[in-house]
Amino acid sequence: MTDDRSDTSLPSGLYIVATPIGNLGDITLRAVDVLKRCDVVACEDTRVTGKLLKHLGVSKPLIRYDDHSEGRSRDKLLQHMREEAVVLVSDAGTPLISDPGYRLVRDAREEGLPVTTLPGACAAIAGLTLSGLPNDRFLFAGFVPSKEKARADFLQSLSDIDATLILYETGPRLAKTLGFLAEHWPGREVAVARELTKLHEECRSGSANELREHYEASPPRGEIVLLIGPPIEESVDEADADRLLAEALETQKASQAAAEVARKTGLDRKALYARAMELRGK
Ligand code: SAM
Repeated sequence: MTDDRSDTSLPSGLYIVATPIGNLGDITLRAVDVLKRCDVVACEDTRVTGKLLKHLGVSKPLIRYDDHSEGRSRDKLLQHMREEAVVLVSDAGTPLISDPGYRLVRDAREEGLPVTTLPGACAAIAGLTLSGLPNDRFLFAGFVPSKEKARADFLQSLSDIDATLILYETGPRLAKTLGFLAEHWPGREVAVARELTKLHEECRSGSANELREHYEASPPRGEIVLLIGPPIEESVDEADADRLLAEALETQKASQAAAEVARKTGLDRKALYARAMELRGK
């Protein structure tokens, strides 16, 4: 089937378009199509987006957009959207996810302008899928603050959340954040996903202390997603373990229930499985 739609223009409105986080092959067919047919591209950095468009053989007017710049650039883009198709991209990945766009989308929706989204690469989700950490519940909390007190307050505020935490972190600060985790949450599993989709992609898992030692000895380069498994239940006695197993057995097989309780408590999975079979038999 031939597709000649790139010659036709798009209905006016806002198109939120995800772009690759490293590997250019990760752009979607739909993203390419919309970039070819749109009228204007709003971006964070015209040089970065200019390079991507050049790679795709596309030439479009670029307008720099930043949620923090005074409303002027937003007003200008809203004006375009009333009559033209405006694409919003960020330097890499999904716009709005630790990137500009939230206010633009809000204003466009409030005005009743058509807004649609073209999903694609997102470092947080790519890191989660690679980490091997539980993904039934997760919380993305953006960048870890750089200052020590703010970082400690931020991490403390997340400490009781029963979910895998997904954070963005930088190489120079990673060891310090891991040091905090080693001190305060020593039992939780941690994964560092680095340079996702790029040549030197790496995902390293372990305790915060093991990872801190590793990255202190060889400081990491490139972009990083830091993932922290759910909290471990502390000082679990037999009655607690039985209660957790009984709860898990309501919806899962014995092996799955044992694995879940082992993850939550740090107790031995085989012993929990044996106990789950006993509870099942009762
Ligand atoms: N909107 C982007 C997304 O959808 O992932 C995130 C933008 S945020 C400004 C940039 C941060 O995302 C980086 O500092 C890093 O923490 C993370 N990141 C982006 N690309 C990455 C990659 N290829 N590998 C690991 N982390 C990445």
